[in-house]
Amino acid sequence: MNYTEIMVRYGELSTKGKNRRIFINQLSYNIKNSLHEFPNVKIRADRDRTHLILNGSDSEQVMQRLAPIFGIQSFSPVIRIEKSPELIKKTAVEMVKAIWLPGMTFKVQSRRSDKNFEWDSNDANREVGSAIYHSVPGIEVKMIQPDIRVEVEIRQEAAYLSCETIQGAGGLPVGSSGRGMLMLSGGIDSPVAGYLAMKRGIEIEAVHFYSPPYTSEQSWQKAKELAVKLTPYVGSIQFITVPFTVIQEEIKRCIPAGYWMTITRRFMLRLTDRIREEREGLAIINGESLGQVASQTMHSMLAINDVTTTPVIRPVITMDKSEIVEVAQKIDTFNLAIQPFEDCCTVFAPPEPKTKPKVDKVQHYEARLDVEGLISDAMSQLIIEEVKINDNYLNQSTEEMEDLF
Ligand code: ATP
Ligand code: MG
Repeated sequence: MNYTEIMVRYGELSTKGKNRRIFINQLSYNIKNSLHEFPNVKIRADRDRTHLILNGSDSEQVMQRLAPIFGIQSFSPVIRIEKSPELIKKTAVEMVKAIWLPGMTFKVQSRRSDKNFEWDSNDANREVGSAIYHSVPGIEVKMIQPDIRVEVEIRQEAAYLSCETIQGAGGLPVGSSGRGMLMLSGGIDSPVAGYLAMKRGIEIEAVHFYSPPYTSEQSWQKAKELAVKLTPYVGSIQFITVPFTVIQEEIKRCIPAGYWMTITRRFMLRLTDRIREEREGLAIINGESLGQVASQTMHSMLAINDVTTTPVIRPVITMDKSEIVEVAQKIDTFNLAIQPFEDCCTVFAPPEPKTKPKVDKVQHYEARLDVEGLISDAMSQLIIEEVKINDNYLNQSTEEMEDLF
């Protein structure tokens, strides 16, 4: 069909009172960003809907881009035509024929704001309904929960027809809740945490701790590739690499093995918080899931969280592994995450990390290190890159990567 516009419905946005303008503006901005390859599309945001005027752009391709955008409840491709009864009937029949499958029912729902038009809304329902009924053999009318709802709107300037409603991604527009730093490893959980944070409107920047030569370049590229998988929801993501080798070596040299893990995590959290402050973020997001490993017991979280008062959002904290895996599969990060490249925590993992570290003991051992010096050194060597949709890192040549370090 030759659709002329896409109508976008907001869902939860509409209930947001005074913030509504902010949400709608952010959504328009995000839509515009993800449609940058379609310069002809014009965006018109109203109080309850946004209209995308296609001006010749392909509706299928545009709708593909809309599907992952948070803050969209649903959308419908629409045809704008001249207000002629014959043309309205003919177009409605064509639209239904294009999607009808045997057994499907339909209903026509009309609205008329042009009171001078020869049909009122009841006439329109009857006329268009009967045209469809007589042109699609076997189709039945159903008033409640029809399979196809043909919407006819007769306005001053033209008539608008649509008969498909496609479910959007839901949630809130990314950015409308502020910015947060996602601690992104190469595992299954943190990309899922990032996805869920974005779903509630958080603009994420990825922070990745990298310990060459203990961890391979591939594990670094893999983390970036995981960030790429999160870009369809936003267009691009800042990927911040923190050199972590020296800190890990210092911890290993000065701290009893049972406390390596807790103290390593405290450094990660401190550094992420420092980066957050510099980049005006409001929260930290990680992929911790309660009880999954030693660092994720309640005792460990208390001892690790001791280094900051910044909110740490843990979107998957109460999820079972199987539930996290389900989301990872849905967002296509699972297959990448299970590729076996060492990440820094496996190399420095002590045989028996404390599952109930005591905060005062942790602080006592940590006093052996020049915490501030180690942190400022790492902060002075951050690598900040922008990853974008369709970027490819895992097949990059080694030389290109060496140039960066
Ligand atoms: P994931 O599957 O996300 O790696 P995990 O179950 O392997 O999680 P841990 O390795 O204990 O759990 O890490 C817990 C969280 O700490 C991760 O979800 C992530 O948010 C953060 N984290 C761990 N390692 C790194 C790293 N190298 N860089 C950035 N963040 C990390
Ligand atoms: Mg991990």
